[in-house]
Amino acid sequence: MGLTGIGGVFGDHLGDIKWAFAAKSQASDPMQAECSALAMAIYFNQVQQIEYLWIETDSLNLCNIISNRLPGPWNWKATKWQTILLMWDVICKLPQSSQPLSFLLKLENSAEKELRHWEGTVFSFSVLALWLQGHNTSATVARVVLNSMDIRKLLKASADAKNLKFGKIIHAHLIISNQISRDRVIERNSLVNLYSKCGDISSARLLFDKMRKKNVVTWGTIMAGYLQRGCASEVIELCRNMVKVNKLCPNKYILAMVLSSCSNCGLLDEGQQCHGYGLKSGLVFYQYVKNALVYMYSMCSDAKGAMQVLNSAPKSDICTYNSVLNGLLVQGDLAEAWYVLREMMVECKYDEWDSITCVNVLGVCGRLKDLILGRQVHSRVMKTGVGCDLFVGSATVDMYGKCGEISCMRKVFDRLQTKNEVTWTAILTAYLHNECFEEALKLFLEMDLDSVVPNEYTFSTLLNSCAGMTAVGYGNSLHARIEKIGMKDHTIVGNALIHMCSRCGLIEDANTVFKNMLHRDVISWNLMITGYSYHGLGEEALNVFQQMLVAKQQPSYVTFVGVLSACGVLGRVAEGFYYLNDMMREFGIEPGLEHYTCIVGLLARAGRLDEAENFMRSKPIPWDVVAWRTLLNACHVHKNYGLGKRIADIVLHMNPNDVGTCILMSNMHAKANRWDKVVDVRMLMREKHIKKEPGLSWTEIRNDTHVFVSDDNEHLESVLIHQKVKQLLAEIRATGYVPDIVSELHDVEEEQKEDHLSYHSEKLAIAYALMKTPPGAPIRVIKNLRMCDDCHSAAKFISKLTNRRIIVRDVNRFHSFRDGSCSCADYW
Ligand SMILES: [Zn+2]
Ligand SMILES: [Zn+2]
Repeated sequence: MGLTGIGGVFGDHLGDIKWAFAAKSQASDPMQAECSALAMAIYFNQVQQIEYLWIETDSLNLCNIISNRLPGPWNWKATKWQTILLMWDVICKLPQSSQPLSFLLKLENSAEKELRHWEGTVFSFSVLALWLQGHNTSATVARVVLNSMDIRKLLKASADAKNLKFGKIIHAHLIISNQISRDRVIERNSLVNLYSKCGDISSARLLFDKMRKKNVVTWGTIMAGYLQRGCASEVIELCRNMVKVNKLCPNKYILAMVLSSCSNCGLLDEGQQCHGYGLKSGLVFYQYVKNALVYMYSMCSDAKGAMQVLNSAPKSDICTYNSVLNGLLVQGDLAEAWYVLREMMVECKYDEWDSITCVNVLGVCGRLKDLILGRQVHSRVMKTGVGCDLFVGSATVDMYGKCGEISCMRKVFDRLQTKNEVTWTAILTAYLHNECFEEALKLFLEMDLDSVVPNEYTFSTLLNSCAGMTAVGYGNSLHARIEKIGMKDHTIVGNALIHMCSRCGLIEDANTVFKNMLHRDVISWNLMITGYSYHGLGEEALNVFQQMLVAKQQPSYVTFVGVLSACGVLGRVAEGFYYLNDMMREFGIEPGLEHYTCIVGLLARAGRLDEAENFMRSKPIPWDVVAWRTLLNACHVHKNYGLGKRIADIVLHMNPNDVGTCILMSNMHAKANRWDKVVDVRMLMREKHIKKEPGLSWTEIRNDTHVFVSDDNEHLESVLIHQKVKQLLAEIRATGYVPDIVSELHDVEEEQKEDHLSYHSEKLAIAYALMKTPPGAPIRVIKNLRMCDDCHSAAKFISKLTNRRIIVRDVNRFHSFRDGSCSCADYW
């Protein structure tokens, strides 16, 4: 019977028939390929029944089962074993790894009775093994080869190479040739080692549990498998059973493994018990155990314990210091790390340092911003050639980045011969933290050209850089890429997406990302709450907060900053005080400066300026410029110039060169028609050489950023843009717009003032965006200063006239103009 004859048996598994054909074309022996196809047919069609029989029958007669299931006439005698083995091979190719093992274990049970008498079984396995390994060898040779090899060496080789498939063939060979029983500890240990090293821990455990005799090596092997998979609690449990059930004593390797598990889980109690055992048994005198102990104490935040072990016998070597420094760095205990580092530099000569030491020391230097020591280590690293090491290279880049030495960092980075995604992400992150957003985005193009695959941290860094420079276009294309490669399910990427969208004015998109997240952490919730507040959408922010409470997510310090700003946006004074005085205390969060500043903003916005001032004076906390400026801004909006003047004096006392405050003060005087005072302020500014920062606005049109300066004639299309502004202003004047000339500081005639006003950077940017985008498309503009009253009013009229949504982000907040009004309700 050929392959075509069994087509019907495959049923719905048409895709698998392709596999069978592939097997046929690959195999040198057509008979073997047909067996393989048949085996598949049996497997896919009757898998449950066959498995059921394997489990239920005590003595197994696979041949009968299989032949009964086979359609049509088939000469079984000749190929029965080949069929079984190839079927097993097919099963091995399937993702459920437990099936081949349960098959092997069943074979093992029946092996003693029936299978051992079957001729040619070892032979079949041998041929199969070699065939699978790609050897084109005759059967006789194969048999001789496999029988003469040291099985344990073969198993160890398979385990070290993580070649589970070959290992399983040897396992099968052991079963069939009856070389393995439950009492043969050494072979059994090799098998447990094979499965656990190859990552099939459940199969390893099955074998382990079935062993009648176990020695210390057996226990150690299975524990190493669990440790490798990060199942620390399992390791500790096994150690307990080993002592209790088998009455065996842990050796130094087992003790070190248990200590590592304690380190990973932060189990100080258990770790200390191990320490006690180590002292009693004398195992602490092994350097290996001492290092594990030091690491355990430092990972469990017990710096004192770590130092005690560090200073005990035997003498500490570089590995001890590596352990303790690594632990302290992970814990973020920099003070202690610094102390240990000093001690290490006395005790261990630089020649003894290895690459791990260098990574640790550079890590300490970066976090402590100790550039001097960092440079010393770097130059030593260069001399000894450890610098070529990938991890040392990344650590050097990271150290310079953390110390803010951007050009040095780049030099080191460019000289590195090997870079992986960690190195690239280290430099991108350094650019982000030093606010070199554009550099980060540019460098990423090179990373792409280098075909380095970015990880979730890379994407998070890039998105945050986009947020930093409000690069909507770049941010959106990254967003699309992240969706495509399925990276968005990482919480850190999701959070960065929310941040990017909300900073770029895409608050609806931020909400979509938030709603579709698989796992939200406290940062996700906070980003959404503060994002809504930032956009002036107080109601939405408070709704998200309610959902957060329903979802039983514990709010943090930052959460309440967002919640209180939302109350500010909505002018809900009582609710704000409720959160501050009751709810925060309920959650055990001590209110800080940011929260109190929100309350000042809340009172100020509601026009309760005196109350706001009293609140500030009654709280004995060190108020900063931001808080006083919040109140000053409110005085400006509510036209309380008397109080405004007093507050401005306080701000200027704290920060004499504060341009924003000088301008606000000048504006207040102008609005009160105190032109003499305006002149005073301007004199003061001139005296102190305080210059008004030039107003800049920018907008992105098809991934190109266009920057506009007030009264700008630099832009290529400046004539057209000025015409467009003029035309827009004429049209909105007809609908009621009146220029607010008070916004203008220049000492010029009114008509000229109006002219200056007309060409403020944000008006130019809005006009240009209107020219270049299709009707109905939203317009996004960013401004480096506070948006002036006149541009704010003009933008409202323009949004109604052109039926467009205009989103302007100024230095304080987002303004979303729609149909003649702004989301900030004219308070900013
Ligand atoms: Zn303006
Ligand atoms: Zn506004």
